[in-house]
Amino acid sequence: MRPSLLDPLFAPAGALPGIGPKNAKLFDRLLQRPQGARVVDVLFHLPQATVDRRSRPKIRDAVPDTIVTIEARVTEHRGPPNARSRAPFKVLVEDDTGDVELVFFLANHDWVRSRLPIGATRWISGKLELWDGRRQIVHPDRVMNAEEFARLPAVEPVYGLTEGLYMRTVARAAEGALKRLPRLGEWIGEATLRRLKLPSFADALGAMHSPKKPEDVDPAGPAATRLAYDELLANQLALLLMRARMRSTPGRAHLAEGALGRRLEAALPFSLTQAQRKAIDDIRADLRAEKRMLRLLQGDVGSGKTVVALLAMADVVEAGRQAAMMAPTEILARQHYERMAPLAESAGLRIALLTGRDKASERRASLAALAEGTIDVAVGTHALFQESVAFADLGLAVVDEQHRFGVRQRLALASKGAAVDLLVMTATPIPRSLVLAYFGDMDVSALREKPPGRQPIDTRVLLIERLEEVVAGISRALRSGARAYWICPLVEESETLDVAAAEDRAAALRALFGETVGLMHGKMAGPERDAATERFRRGETKILVATTVVEVGVDVPEATIMIVEHAERFGLAQLHQLRGRVGRGAGRSACLLIYKGPLGEAARARLETLRETEDGFRIAEEDLKLRGEGDVLGARQAGAPGFRFARLEIHGGLLARAREEAEAALKRDERLASEGSRGLRTLLYLFERDEAARLIEAG
Ligand code: ADP
Ligand code: MG
Repeated sequence: MRPSLLDPLFAPAGALPGIGPKNAKLFDRLLQRPQGARVVDVLFHLPQATVDRRSRPKIRDAVPDTIVTIEARVTEHRGPPNARSRAPFKVLVEDDTGDVELVFFLANHDWVRSRLPIGATRWISGKLELWDGRRQIVHPDRVMNAEEFARLPAVEPVYGLTEGLYMRTVARAAEGALKRLPRLGEWIGEATLRRLKLPSFADALGAMHSPKKPEDVDPAGPAATRLAYDELLANQLALLLMRARMRSTPGRAHLAEGALGRRLEAALPFSLTQAQRKAIDDIRADLRAEKRMLRLLQGDVGSGKTVVALLAMADVVEAGRQAAMMAPTEILARQHYERMAPLAESAGLRIALLTGRDKASERRASLAALAEGTIDVAVGTHALFQESVAFADLGLAVVDEQHRFGVRQRLALASKGAAVDLLVMTATPIPRSLVLAYFGDMDVSALREKPPGRQPIDTRVLLIERLEEVVAGISRALRSGARAYWICPLVEESETLDVAAAEDRAAALRALFGETVGLMHGKMAGPERDAATERFRRGETKILVATTVVEVGVDVPEATIMIVEHAERFGLAQLHQLRGRVGRGAGRSACLLIYKGPLGEAARARLETLRETEDGFRIAEEDLKLRGEGDVLGARQAGAPGFRFARLEIHGGLLARAREEAEAALKRDERLASEGSRGLRTLLYLFERDEAARLIEAG
């Protein structure tokens, strides 16, 4: 159980000043807690920057797209033309160098008039924007008279926001959260504290939320480093505890002579690559041994992981046990099943698909067969590890695209059988530095080499102005039988807008290409989405317009063209995954990355990297350099258990130390039961490694 000391932090965020029933939902969205934000989420929502009000530019010198603080006279009120109009209320202010329009949407006009009376001088702070060549501040963060301004801290935190939330509201909530922070004691060892010159946890949060100088919120500064270290330490503890649990049952040897595997291999229309052979050899050695396998199979999209997994499962089945393969989505599970079933069955493996969408009667039959052991291999989604699912004798669990799953699911599946061996497959090549952070010391096999016969993908980077040429090119390609994906812009934080963009594009393309244009997006129900994929797979539609739902694993070898609109908005790893949807067959493939100029530095570097290389490992390394680990794993987008604070390109150097410290702590006290380990127990709960924490509590 979570120590009651932490209760104030895990109370609903609604308890904080400034968060009421009206904007609670906005906080939930901002903090990515659809099930309800808590105080700790507010506390852990760190500022990205500061406003330094020590600099007070004249209007003419204020830099657009930054937060500015100006002193100006109110010269004009421009209300909407009539009471029913939804036009904004505007207030013109000026100094002797220029003017700025303050814009208030749906504002209480009396409030605006009284805060900004004509002729008054005010201090105004907010984000300056250029709109049609005019300077504007939409909903200034602050409007103050001289007295109020004098009382304002010189440096203020700047938080990431979501539409509808004001900076002040978030700042106030954060201040409130800070006040609720209980005294938690210290969990970092003396030596580390001194060596890294770390402030206490409370001081670090204090420095972040009430910065005295801009450097206080610097991600490489002492406060951020402290929090990152805490997080890495919690994570390493959790991984070590998990590992200890996994290893505590000795594991079973799966003794197979390899006959089933040989039959499977013989049925393959190709021979294994060196890399695949090496991987399967590693896995077989693990399976034969009496310790539990914990292995990560890394390989770029299309590198041929599935076959490796199938061969591993065959060995386990030959040894008289069952295997399960779990995929993150319905589509993927089905696809794995459909591709493996003919092969498996020809070798005498009994294979079944189990998803959340099966009919009740089918599901009952599958469950019974699994429990009796008349199914050898089960392929499915998370439906596989629901409690109602029992295996006769599960020997191996294969988890595809692991980073979309949490530790919880991993444990759940592994608990389906005595000492289940675990093979985790990831399509995102993960740099070595990240393997340790995310997976602890799992053994790693990597497929760096692609199966032979693949042609390089012709990747081009084009300005949106050339869209007509692109469409003409597609038109030609379609006539010669090609199939194309068309990925639509990712609009930040708004699935609805994503979908609207995709619908618009689909409509525009339909006007040109008629019914050969299909559409698929995340708001569609599962079966509808599958149907759209299916039509594309069968060639009934030739262009599939989609949001990034196709990112993960959809496999249509006939598709040879990938178009990504607004490519500048996608992360490198994401673009790489998208591109990986083509180039799977023997035909020559193309990827058109369409962007809207002008390109920022980082976006340019991303697109450049993609044009230069298809090596997923290199791309992952570049991504790490360019953006930080969140994007490498797609963890943030997917809401998977990522890191809130630790950015491995900055804090990666702390990883080894955190690991050593975690190891030493568990060596001293393997269940963290003593008084001296109290802090570390708190840490685990604070960072919500609850599953791991439970391991030290359960008997
Ligand atoms: P991944 O799961 O790593 O993305 P897959 O296992 O789906 O890759 O393999 C991609 C494609 O390559 C599949 O169509 C598969 O049949 C094929 N393939 C796998 N291994 C080889 C090989 N050694 N030679 C030729 N083709 C292969
Ligand atoms: Mg795959």
